[in-house]
Amino acid sequence: MGSLHNVSAIKNIIIVGAGPAGLLAGLILSQNGVPVTLVDMGQGLDTNPRATHYAAPAVTELVRAGVIADIKAEGFQPHGVSWRKINGEEIASLNADILGDAPDRMVCLPLDKLSMILKRYLDQQDNVEILFDHNVVNIGQDEEEAWVDVETKDGEKRLTAHYIIGCDGANSKIRRCLFGDAQFPGFTWDKQVVATNTYYDFKKYGWNDSNFIVHPDNWFMAARISNDGLWRVTYGDITGLTREELIARQPMRFKEILPGHPDPNSYKLANISPYKVHQRLAQKMRVGRFLLAADAAHLCNPFGGMGLTSGIVDVGGLCDCLLAIHHGKAGDEVLDIYSDKRMEKFKTVVDPISSSNFRRLFENDPEKAKEDDEFFKLCLKAESDNELARQLNEGVSILKYDFSQHFTPVSSAV
Ligand SMILES: Cc1cc2nc3c(=O)[nH]c(=O)nc-3n(C[C@H](O)[C@H](O)[C@H](O)COP(=O)(O)OP(=O)(O)OC[C@H]3O[C@@H](n4cnc5c(N)ncnc54)[C@H](O)[C@@H]3O)c2cc1C
Repeated sequence: MGSLHNVSAIKNIIIVGAGPAGLLAGLILSQNGVPVTLVDMGQGLDTNPRATHYAAPAVTELVRAGVIADIKAEGFQPHGVSWRKINGEEIASLNADILGDAPDRMVCLPLDKLSMILKRYLDQQDNVEILFDHNVVNIGQDEEEAWVDVETKDGEKRLTAHYIIGCDGANSKIRRCLFGDAQFPGFTWDKQVVATNTYYDFKKYGWNDSNFIVHPDNWFMAARISNDGLWRVTYGDITGLTREELIARQPMRFKEILPGHPDPNSYKLANISPYKVHQRLAQKMRVGRFLLAADAAHLCNPFGGMGLTSGIVDVGGLCDCLLAIHHGKAGDEVLDIYSDKRMEKFKTVVDPISSSNFRRLFENDPEKAKEDDEFFKLCLKAESDNELARQLNEGVSILKYDFSQHFTPVSSAV
């Protein structure tokens, strides 16, 4: 690596967005001695039904932040996943129990609960400030520092920092200020997704902890997300309808697609939210003193749970790089490597795998999928091959990138 032109400790970092990515970044940085200010436009933590499952490479970061025991205590480790025909018949399955008590085995806990755990730990740090009701409306930077202009109920103010991390989600103001409002390369799927949290007894039908239903129109996902019988049911519906129209169609859609064809009195709907889904990647994940991570930097469809998983891996890598700068083990050019490597991982891992996960549900002929789909063929082979089953379960570990290979030992740096 080149000369270390920035060996002084980082004075402070602002993180825009107190979603799971921003909270985790704040926790790792503050635990390692960097003062952090988190700002969020919301009045508190988000409660929408979104991420629930975090795969192995994300678990590594949650272990490192010291929060995994709390996550496991409130959540659980799914036993496995099955792909099914609309009549419930199994096409293929992947057993996760062969991983035993592997430390980075997938965990399941709804995002709002994950965020609450992270905030609980952040509240114990004396070098962290969390400012809700702070809407970032503009940004700037010079040689010395970077700043965000925020609207608060007490008027507008400017907050400055050494570095600013945009963890402000899909509609990131930081990204839009850096590249322009309409500049988020990629595409929006021509599919309407509706995510619900629903109490319904799928186990009665012999269903696995996670299930994907393969069907050209009635594709959906049903995954257990709590220990008390709450399931995430995410299904497709007609495109072009309003939010209200989609919500009104939910009872009819459940009767049509769920096992047992239930009437509303047979289940309890806890939450519903329609989503548009995208595959997008920002032009860069670093511009000077501004860094992007997680949804602010990239989006993928939710089938297969790669969105926040990859966002958490970004956060871990970014914190490694910032802490290396803080401790004099790297110059700030390491942040360009962060940008390049995380973008490469999105292009070569997240985007293709998440797209295949989604297409597999509606492009396959369910009657022939077992013979036609290469991934299903592997799953079927893995039923009698534990090593292959382990590899398939841990497949997305290739999301990781070890930035420490670009750091210099402290003694020679100084
Ligand atoms: C239905 C569904 C299911 C999913 N399931 C999974 C899953 O199982 N596993 C998985 O890994 N991923 C999943 N995802 C993706 C996952 O939910 C997202 O990747 C994740 O929520 C992104 O977290 P984040 O912290 O980057 O952004 P967010 O959670 O969107 O947080 C952004 C924060 O920034 C704040 N903010 C925005 N703009 C401003 C501003 N101008 N000023 C100040 N604050 C601002 C917002 O208030 C918000 O709190 C799913 C997504 C959906 C839609």
